This record gives sequence, structure tokens and C-alpha cells, in this order.
Amino acid sequence: MQKKENRYSVAKDLAANPTNLTKNGVCSKCGGCCSNILPLSEQDIRRLRSFAEEHKFVPRLPAGANLIYAHCPFLIEPDPETQPGVKICAAYDARPDVCRIFLCSNTNDQNARAWMTQFGAAAMPEPANVWQVFNRTGLRYDGIEIPYDQAPLCRIANDKREAYEFHVGRPVSVMLENGEFVPPSMILNISQLGLQIFNGAKNNVQFISFGQIDQILSEACRVEFTEDMEKCAVDGGNSCEPDHENTGPTQTDSNETDAGIPGT
Ligand code: SF4
Ligand code: SF4
Repeated sequence: MQKKENRYSVAKDLAANPTNLTKNGVCSKCGGCCSNILPLSEQDIRRLRSFAEEHKFVPRLPAGANLIYAHCPFLIEPDPETQPGVKICAAYDARPDVCRIFLCSNTNDQNARAWMTQFGAAAMPEPANVWQVFNRTGLRYDGIEIPYDQAPLCRIANDKREAYEFHVGRPVSVMLENGEFVPPSMILNISQLGLQIFNGAKNNVQFISFGQIDQILSEACRVEFTEDMEKCAVDGGNSCEPDHENTGPTQTDSNETDAGIPGT
């Protein structure tokens, strides 16, 4: 019972207290919502990919041997010399549906209603990493960027015989035993004890032990339980490549977090 009350209050807080970066309700084009993790449909990804190919758009990652780049690859600074810090959406005409709808001053309900008005009852897509458009993750580890299609795969199963698969660099949402909701975040690693994630909302790296996790909310991660997976859980995700086990990118490039322009 206590758990349910906690969950309710977390959800209520999130819904009732949006981070408002608008100017009097009008998008200030600050780019604060131009995250690398967005609800993206297959259609959004195809549209962005076609756009990038047509315009020969090549995204850039900041320098650094270990890096978590937490911004959309299409958020660019077109003229850093004369307008430093001013950013634009390089894919404005092809931007994802959510970028056309979302306004940070709205509550979750208001954004959901705006979505419904524009796109009907179609379910909001699951969160995804925008860098996959380029077969990249936006993560660099030991000087090597982790490609999207070669990101290490980790599998776990809990004591309820529920099984999940994670790829490094792909988002996951979890609800903790204490009722805390951890928003769509990037899995950086998995160990015998739990998950190392990048929490985009807080711009930091967190360790979440399996014991803390009450529920994994990302349906896309859920897979059929097999005895093999049970073994993986016991082995602490030994299906991960050794290079990425128990370590991983730990630096963030937070200097650029607040500058930019969204596609609203
Ligand atoms: S760019 Fe995003 S975060 Fe900034 S004001 Fe507009 S909707 Fe809000
Ligand atoms: S508006 Fe453009 S830069 Fe911002 S998240 Fe959407 S696609 Fe990326």
C-alpha cells in the first residue's frame, strides 16, 4: 500500500511541476528539451535519416576520450564566432513529431492532449536515442565511439522470472522500490549488482542495484524469460563485452546543455 502511495505522489509531482523554460508560455527556443532521448517512431527515424542523407548532414561529438553526449545530434551551433551559444535545429522540417508538440510549460496531461489532437489516439512511441539515425549512440568510451548496432547487449532476469534485454546507449525507464521514477536514461553498463545509467533528467550517472528496482517500464526491453537469461542474471550480465563491464563513460559534456533551439 505504501508503495502505491509513493508511486502516486511521484507521478503527481512530475505531472504538476513541469520545468518551465518558456517566456510567458511561448517557447524561448532555449533547446533545453533537445535531448538525445526522445519518443521516436520508426517513421520519425526514417524521416530524419532521409533528411540527413539528402543534406549530407554529419553530426559532431565534442572531444573527450570518455563522453556521454546528452543532446540531439541535430542541435547545432551554426555560427559560433558571431553568435556563440546560439543553436538551431538542423532538421527543423524533418523533426520528430514530439518536437512539434511538446512545450515544457505544459503538464504531462496537456502535452498528451496536444499529441492526441494532432496525431489521434496513436500511442506515443517509446523513448529512443536520436543518434541511432547515424548508427551512433553519442557515447565514447576509451576514445572509441560505441556504434548503435554494435552496442554491448546485456540480459537480466528478476526473481519474478521477468526478463529484460538492454543495449548500452539505449534508454530505459525504471520505477524503484521507494517509488522514485527514473526517467528514460541510457544504460551504460551492467554488473552483477545492477545497472549503471545516465540519468538525462539530472545529467548525471547513477548506479541502480537490481534490489532497488521494482519495475522496468520500457516495454521494448521486455523479452521472453528463458533459463539462459536466469543464468545471465546470476552471472551478472556476462553477455556484456568485457571492455564495458563495470566501467563505462562517466563524463558528461554539460557545458552545452542549456543552449539551443527546439523545433516547436
Ligand atoms: S526549447 Fe524546449 S525547454 Fe526550451 S522553452 Fe522551448 S519547449 Fe521549453
Ligand atoms: S527540435 Fe530538432 S534539435 Fe531539437 S530535439 Fe527535435 S530534432 Fe533535435
